[in-house]
Amino acid sequence: MIDRRTLLKSFSVAALTRAVQAATTPYNRPKLKITDVRTAEVRVHGYQLHVRVYADDGLFGHGEGTDSVQGGVPLIDSWRRTLIGRDPLNIEAIFEQIRTAGVFSGAQAGQYVAALSALEIALWDLAGKALGLPVYQLLGGKVRDRVRLYCDSDMRNPLDDEAGKKIAWIKDNQFTAMKIDIDQFNDPNRFDRMNWTANNAEIDRMVKWVARTRDGIGMNMDLGVDMHARYDAITGKRVAKELEPFRLMWLEEPVPAENIDAMRDIKQSTHTPICSGENIFLTYGYRELLEKRAVDIIMPDIQKVGGLLQGRAIAEMAHTYYIPFAPHGVTSPVGMMSSAHLCASIPNFYVLEWHWIDSLDLWRNFVKEGDIIEKGYIPIPERPGLGVEMNEAAARKAQGPGTPWFEPRRAA
Ligand code: MG
Repeated sequence: MIDRRTLLKSFSVAALTRAVQAATTPYNRPKLKITDVRTAEVRVHGYQLHVRVYADDGLFGHGEGTDSVQGGVPLIDSWRRTLIGRDPLNIEAIFEQIRTAGVFSGAQAGQYVAALSALEIALWDLAGKALGLPVYQLLGGKVRDRVRLYCDSDMRNPLDDEAGKKIAWIKDNQFTAMKIDIDQFNDPNRFDRMNWTANNAEIDRMVKWVARTRDGIGMNMDLGVDMHARYDAITGKRVAKELEPFRLMWLEEPVPAENIDAMRDIKQSTHTPICSGENIFLTYGYRELLEKRAVDIIMPDIQKVGGLLQGRAIAEMAHTYYIPFAPHGVTSPVGMMSSAHLCASIPNFYVLEWHWIDSLDLWRNFVKEGDIIEKGYIPIPERPGLGVEMNEAAARKAQGPGTPWFEPRRAA
């Protein structure tokens, strides 16, 4: 038997130092180079741009942009010279170089930022795969294991039979929150197709739609109501007031997003929580919205606003105002999972939109992992990167006619 003294003597200081260093030596991160960037276009709920960034170790990262990405393919192509040969793990450097290179080309908002969002998300997926970590870990780690969803019901008319069936489906699938739209350009009560001042009959129709939906789901399910940024200020104020008894989760974009003072006037006039953000871009777009306390809740679209780091920065800005973060979401499971990794890492995350109720077959088959929703939540996977891989045979059913499908590009 070895006594303690002999045991201690068998360890030299040098050997001990080597052992400690071996256990704590900084991990040598992979040295990667971007070799190619490819795109595909999909049309499901609107238009989605899929981007893959390939590296010289054979890995690729996959990202998705939406809504404002029409025209995104030539934009991504125009960034190829900046991207090929770059280290893909320096995500912020790549993002900021492309963003600032475009300040005279519309890089403040719209297509430019939405296409850049798809690219940025692809870089995060690639980084996670290269480092062997899920994306949430690279974003600071998770504060929750699953992300709550609300189901956008896509109801045409909350008073018809289809609406009843949708509410039954939403309840059966254990969602805790849902949303309806109350704007209607062809409301027969309207006097004018261009003017967006709602009259009494149109406001009564809106109230009836919300009342019927509340009846169907009860007071304890969260209910969002969207006006799609169509109406004028007086209508926004009147509707927000009329809907107060229904205790909404929020009233969304009662007026267009551009005039922050108008949004603030509505917010200050009502107890109904006001939400905006899906048509606002980058941290710069959110600065004034938050400084003026123009909304109660923000809803950036991560696949459009600038990607995961911009989303994270916006969420943290909102956190300093005690404002919850409830991202807009209309993408495939690839984009939704990227939002879920971010939402898992955000303390003030509230609820994430899911909008594929009318494309269930495609939703369940779009990625190889199948349906990523469980009982109204997305559980966060522990796989490296985003943790989902597109099932191309299924996804290609929604390919835009005559659009590219991840074909290799010619050498830059
Ligand atoms: Mg909306």
